[in-house]
Amino acid sequence: MVGVVSMAKKIRYIRGTGIEKIDLKQEDHKLDKYKGIEHYKDIVYQCGKCGTCRTVFQDVNWARVCPSGEFGQFEAYYLGGKNLLTWGIQQNKLKWTDNLARIFYECSLCLACTQQCQIPELHTYAGEWLMAMREEAVRAGYGPMPEQKQYTKYVEELHNPYGEKNESRQDWFPSDAFQSPNAKLAYFVGCTSSYREKEIAISTVRILNTLGIDFKILENESCCGSPVYMTGQVDYARKIAEDNVEMFKNSGVEKIITSCAGCYRALKDIYPKKFGIKHGIEILHLPEFILRNLKNGTIKFKQNVNMKITYHDPCHIGRHMGMYKEPRAVLEEIPGIELVEMDRNKHNAWCCGSGGGVRAAFKDLSEFAARERIEEAKDTDASAIVSSCPFCLNQFKTNIKNDEIKAYDISQLIEKTIK
Ligand code: SF4
Ligand code: SF4
Repeated sequence: MVGVVSMAKKIRYIRGTGIEKIDLKQEDHKLDKYKGIEHYKDIVYQCGKCGTCRTVFQDVNWARVCPSGEFGQFEAYYLGGKNLLTWGIQQNKLKWTDNLARIFYECSLCLACTQQCQIPELHTYAGEWLMAMREEAVRAGYGPMPEQKQYTKYVEELHNPYGEKNESRQDWFPSDAFQSPNAKLAYFVGCTSSYREKEIAISTVRILNTLGIDFKILENESCCGSPVYMTGQVDYARKIAEDNVEMFKNSGVEKIITSCAGCYRALKDIYPKKFGIKHGIEILHLPEFILRNLKNGTIKFKQNVNMKITYHDPCHIGRHMGMYKEPRAVLEEIPGIELVEMDRNKHNAWCCGSGGGVRAAFKDLSEFAARERIEEAKDTDASAIVSSCPFCLNQFKTNIKNDEIKAYDISQLIEKTIK
């Protein structure tokens, strides 16, 4: 197998430091993000098919970054190939087919490829047209994939993509925990923590209760719409966003904490930037909120959590939102934690393989990506892989074999240290 096991063992480039991202500021470019495919038509052709986007370009060992390309083993699955297909559709040289649509969906939209491209416009905007091509596939009647249609139906009927009963959404709430109905701060739990990784929801509530912070869980919380949006179904995703923002406004909240990377990006970025819904509510991911409180002294980490861990960057808070420092800063403050980095970290992190609708529709690719990340985590000799997203945690727990390494969410370690 040409897997990371052998590859990662050879990679010892700048362990623990990562490689600094080229920081291209939005104002350096004429174009906006979150636009349709027409908006980017004049820059797609700039791709020189050099293949640099396949691997970490500064790494002498060329660590691979693209789960789709490495699994598909064909140029079409890498960003360079997808650029050519995008250009072909734009120029009317190609027509949509089931196979063409499948190539665009067999990609976790992790954006690791875009970080490697040295052409500034592609570096900054290629992820936008990867997404916009899904919107086009839906318009042309070729997307989303059948499994993604099924979970969208569940969202329509039950307000979660798992097909679980809406009325049991908050069944996890501990009987001895408390919330304040009039609080201005809400904890947006999200579907995965509500139904699959309930420990994250419980830990987050325990943290807020221990700190004496007034909060509430929104009575009518439903899916944030991220799984719908990420599969190109923008019209329905917009409706979900509008309904959610109306519910937020009616509840009187001024600030929302998330513990899911996908919910965080949806509420903070996709709602205002893609759908133009300027809700004015402050959105904070749990590590940001905890770090802010550590800095102002309202939170103290007390208990020793004796553990060597490695941190996995969720794509939705990492490459999509640029949040790399906050989770690490929080973890490093926990007494007894030794944080070691995987070779591919921060903007070069290998995706866990669950996002972008991949886990629902392409199980083999999803498992391939997860196993590669688990092997890379084991290679650090850490006893646990820690993330800040229930989807990543669920993906790791599903694919870890024989207790080879533990997997936790950052909320679980914070709960341990503040008890
Ligand atoms: S996207 Fe950039 S790195 Fe990838 S093939 Fe095109 S020019 Fe090269
Ligand atoms: S977004 Fe991720 S999976 Fe998709 S082409 Fe880029 S690196 Fe590969």
